[in-house]
Amino acid sequence: MALINENYLKLPGSYLFAEIGRRVNKFKQENPDANVIRLGIGDVTRALPPAVIDSLHKAVDEMSVEDTFKGYGPEQGYSFLIQKVIEYDYLPRGIKLDEDEVFISDGSKCDTGNIQEIFGIDNKIAVTDPVYPVYVDTNVMAGRTGVINESGRFENITYLSCNAENHFVPELPKNRVDIIYLCFPNNPTGMTISKEELKKWVEYAKANQSIILYDAAYEAYITEKDIPHSIYEIEGAKEVAIEFRSFSKNAGFTGTRCAYTVVPKEVMAYTSKGEAYPLNKLWNRRQTTKFNGVPYIIQKGAAAVYTEEGQKQIKALINYYMTNAKTIREGLKSVGLQVFGGVNAPYIWLKTPNGLDSWAFFDKLLNEANIVGTPGVGFGPSGQGYFRLTAFGSQESTEEAVSRFKTRLKL
Ligand SMILES: *Cc1c(COP(=O)(O)O)cnc(C)c1O
Repeated sequence: MALINENYLKLPGSYLFAEIGRRVNKFKQENPDANVIRLGIGDVTRALPPAVIDSLHKAVDEMSVEDTFKGYGPEQGYSFLIQKVIEYDYLPRGIKLDEDEVFISDGSKCDTGNIQEIFGIDNKIAVTDPVYPVYVDTNVMAGRTGVINESGRFENITYLSCNAENHFVPELPKNRVDIIYLCFPNNPTGMTISKEELKKWVEYAKANQSIILYDAAYEAYITEKDIPHSIYEIEGAKEVAIEFRSFSKNAGFTGTRCAYTVVPKEVMAYTSKGEAYPLNKLWNRRQTTKFNGVPYIIQKGAAAVYTEEGQKQIKALINYYMTNAKTIREGLKSVGLQVFGGVNAPYIWLKTPNGLDSWAFFDKLLNEANIVGTPGVGFGPSGQGYFRLTAFGSQESTEEAVSRFKTRLKL
């Protein structure tokens, strides 16, 4: 008799987006003429930069002749792309990496999900609340947690509350934890962390022989000075942190798929006997065994991000979304709403007015202004009373949405 992995049964259905869909469909049936604007999506909408398209075309042609055809490539990624990553994303910030410390992959979702495999089952993990669900769900699947309780939290996970009071930067855990997931700039709050605050986490990790899994998918959206783009800007972080980056949000690769993970050779975890072991070796082993590498064509497309044209074009892309973020942020402020984020990230996190819960505000916004957003509580219990809007819409629909906040929403 084949047994299933019963840990999967601990996971609740993907309630959030299903429930949003259900409510929007019902509204549309009842109001067929309403023009519904979606500011709930966490996906980009602008086309790929022309430099990327050119490079993809050329790579396709290379595949058409034996001389330049590529079969299986290195699982860790091609050197031409890794070199660019190091040269453009790290060296200018004073961070030196070797080629074998960067692993090209098909996504940060997969990498942040797969990384837990190289850690023992008995590790205590900590996540922020609200949180990107992948970090939690993959640990549930692995059996590192108990069941979910009525408040929506799994047993045996340490949840670090992020709210207006702590400026959406978690406090250090009171109990000892072994693995900490941090994401800055943050999805869903759109808020970020200062170097000083991040330093506390690196010190905590060093003192407790813990590991920080640092998701920097939104690094390119940072506009303020002094906000760390990489955790390795903090001294000593190479000993305790793995960093995840993606081309999804900076270059529009959500459907094209390319990302990378940095595992410095210094970063160690321990055997049960207490012997230090390099995580780089384990991740390399994991990837070479279970992953075939990102297609050559796609890596060529990603490499074009680092050309002069590519750099200009992705800056324009980010600027487009960040102009939307500003439009939303300022528009909502002008009607007296309390808003967070939207300065260093394409997400605006607003405090629901008049103490409404997240879903009540969802219904109100849909009914009065025909705008769809994401209830904050869907990202964790500490998101209750908050609401997420994204800057990934078109400029026109973003402006229209903001004007509806001003004229149609009864505050
Ligand atoms: C979008 C996003 C990513 C990127 O995931 P990909 O799999 O590379 O597309 C990573 N982390 C967070 C928190 C995100 O929102």
